[in-house]
Amino acid sequence: MAVLINNLCVIGTGLIGGSLCLALKEAAAVNTIVGAGRSEETLQKAQQLNIIDSYETDISEAVKDADLIFVSVPLGAMETVFEKISTGLEQAGNTKAIITDAGSSKQLVQQLAEKIFTDISAGGSDRFVAGHPIAGTENSGPAAAFAGLYKDRRVILTPTDETDSDAIKLVTEMWQKTGAAVETMDAEHHDKVLAATSHLPHLIAFGLVHCLENIDDIEDVFRFAAGGFRDVTRIASSDPTMWRDICLNNQQPILDMMKRYKDELDMLYNALEAGDGEKLMEVFQHAKQTRDKFTH
Ligand code: NAP
Repeated sequence: MAVLINNLCVIGTGLIGGSLCLALKEAAAVNTIVGAGRSEETLQKAQQLNIIDSYETDISEAVKDADLIFVSVPLGAMETVFEKISTGLEQAGNTKAIITDAGSSKQLVQQLAEKIFTDISAGGSDRFVAGHPIAGTENSGPAAAFAGLYKDRRVILTPTDETDSDAIKLVTEMWQKTGAAVETMDAEHHDKVLAATSHLPHLIAFGLVHCLENIDDIEDVFRFAAGGFRDVTRIASSDPTMWRDICLNNQQPILDMMKRYKDELDMLYNALEAGDGEKLMEVFQHAKQTRDKFTH
């Protein structure tokens, strides 16, 4: 049986791109994988770990024969990477390549694709399918990648009315080969939902650790850190560049969620200051019921 993807080009061979490569190899869904990115050191490491078969340091060169291009670099690097992809495809006369990405916010990535991929196969950005795997860890780089990252996880695709249906089909099948379930929604809805479920929790974790850094007994705070502290702050070990870029790329939805959370903290502050145990109990009970309902 023919493999799903003949030539895959992965730009950014870290946790997300590397895990995709390993999963597709395990599923025998790909013939060859060319890696590209920023530093040669990372690409060499990815090759040593058998994540990619070969690499190119020049992104425009790497995409020339690609059937599918997967972009998994920080959001702040997307624009430059898209420009290099566009140049490479045009120079090579590659009119078949489908492009997708893994960026954690989707409206600005879609806008970039529409601005830059104006001429791929004269179909504009139609063969670009914006995507976001809802999977990850606080670790980064090729050494953090593993084949099972996407198993039983969800991947959200945010195609537009113009997106080519064959492109959506291929990207959907690619993710299904990794064991993920694929859903589609519009980019605006995606950005609102993810601001609540992923971006706000990361800001809370970063902010909590940062505010504790400045108190006097810092040594003891970390020495006696119990399960609750570890659970809430694990994601503060995530890559700062990636999270700066996510915040700047999904600014308004995140600000809306932060405002909501600030109001909630104020309410809890006032309840505690007033010694209002009934109010605290009501909030904790509701929160427990809600979490139990959605996580069990
Ligand atoms: P990562 O492990 O740090 O890997 C990022 C990769 O991009 C590295 O290979 C890096 O190469 C490369 N890169 C960085 N800057 C670049 C540039 N200017 N030009 C070209 N390549 C560059 O990050 P990741 O966790 O895989 O995240 C990648 C993308 O997936 C991000 O857009 C993120 O929003 C999204 N995402 C992440 C998660 C998560 O939990 N981690 C989940 C879903 C989606 P160097 O090593 O040479 O810098």
